[in-house]
Amino acid sequence: MLNTNEVNKWKEQLPLIEKMISKEQVLWLNPLLESVTTGISKTGITKMQVQDASDRLERFASYIKSVFPETIVSNGIIESPLTAIPKMKAALEEKYGIQIPGDLLLKQDNILPISGSIKARGGIYEILKHAETLALENGLITIGEDYAKFAESGFKNLFSKHKIAVGSTGNLGLSIGIMSAKLGFNVTVHMSADAKKWKKEMLREKGVTVIEYVEDYSKAVEEGRRQADEDPTCHFVDDENSIDLFLGYAVAGERLAAQLKERGTTVNEENPLFVYLPCGVGGGPGGVAFGLKLAFGDHVHCFFAEPTHSPCMMLGMMTGLHDGISVQDFGLDNKTAADGLAVGTASGFVGKTMEPLLSGCYTLSDETMFQLLKLAADIEGIRLEPSALAGMTGPINVIREHIKGAELSTATHIVWGTGGGMVPEQEMNLYYGMSRN
Ligand SMILES: *Cc1c(COP(=O)(O)O)cnc(C)c1O
Repeated sequence: MLNTNEVNKWKEQLPLIEKMISKEQVLWLNPLLESVTTGISKTGITKMQVQDASDRLERFASYIKSVFPETIVSNGIIESPLTAIPKMKAALEEKYGIQIPGDLLLKQDNILPISGSIKARGGIYEILKHAETLALENGLITIGEDYAKFAESGFKNLFSKHKIAVGSTGNLGLSIGIMSAKLGFNVTVHMSADAKKWKKEMLREKGVTVIEYVEDYSKAVEEGRRQADEDPTCHFVDDENSIDLFLGYAVAGERLAAQLKERGTTVNEENPLFVYLPCGVGGGPGGVAFGLKLAFGDHVHCFFAEPTHSPCMMLGMMTGLHDGISVQDFGLDNKTAADGLAVGTASGFVGKTMEPLLSGCYTLSDETMFQLLKLAADIEGIRLEPSALAGMTGPINVIREHIKGAELSTATHIVWGTGGGMVPEQEMNLYYGMSRN
């Protein structure tokens, strides 16, 4: 906790903080942003590591295809469509009175196979990597073999002697739980108080142990980590510090590059790309943004979006304190309907990694998310969960601020639609009804 003196010092030094305390929707531009060439080298993470993750996902494709039939169409590769949303663009222009001259696209991670959210990238990758490590160590497989073998009973026997644990507000738990249970691991998801009942029920149905906490996300993570530490057969998926999760997300960069190429969209100096990513603890958006920087260099501009009640990454980045500061330090309550974004303290690892690469952060209210949720459902027929709408005000924010390149008709704006596919219809109807107009 910061003391009163420190809190006052920050308020004086960074006037934007007063606005954040009054829960205004704000945009912050990162003064430490630098060129990709120098920026990437500061992170200590390399293109080769992301390539290694991508290769591993390729190796597992035959297994994924065999156990999740919905991935047959994509040959076992877990990827989402990139969809033009011209009607939404027109509606945003009208709602905010601002022209968006470039294209507006939605990256539909809400319909990613297996777990219907961005967590199907990092979460599933980390479990597959762990399974591969164990299988190699135990001589069950070699790298060149067909990984469809992972569905055989010998593998399940091995994995049943191993445990996986994770702390989650919901979607990471779903992704880790579903993948781990499928491989045969003994998996426990530690869930915070705000996690939805249907998520707990769905996991229990799949044979996952769910432990519930009355406290928030941080407590669930802390307890999960503590219990895992006491057990050497347990692998703890560390949402705040995991490089594997980060790398799994980062593979999205090359995949998006291929999709843009396929639709004939060029990205270069004259045709900049702007990407808006909902941010909770930071691993998902951080990893994806890192992958995008690798793929597009200085021609991609990445922004994180957070709820006005939980701007943890923005506070961490603007003060440079990262995980040494929380939204509660400034009297914010960390209460939001945006599952996955209700995080009081951001990942220090991700904050520090993204310091030279992120263009900025902005906030939006729950009310705005609900209005946009209804709009997207009504005019595009796309049903997203509240968090997944956080990216939608990004183009408005950057164009309003005259960020270089954003108002060009040759710019492309991509909103990362991070989730919604697993939300039961009844729950979705409740979300839909939350908008006051
Ligand atoms: C988890 C999640 C995010 C944010 O990802 P972090 O890694 O926590 O920053 C955004 N949207 C949805 C739907 C999520 O589930």
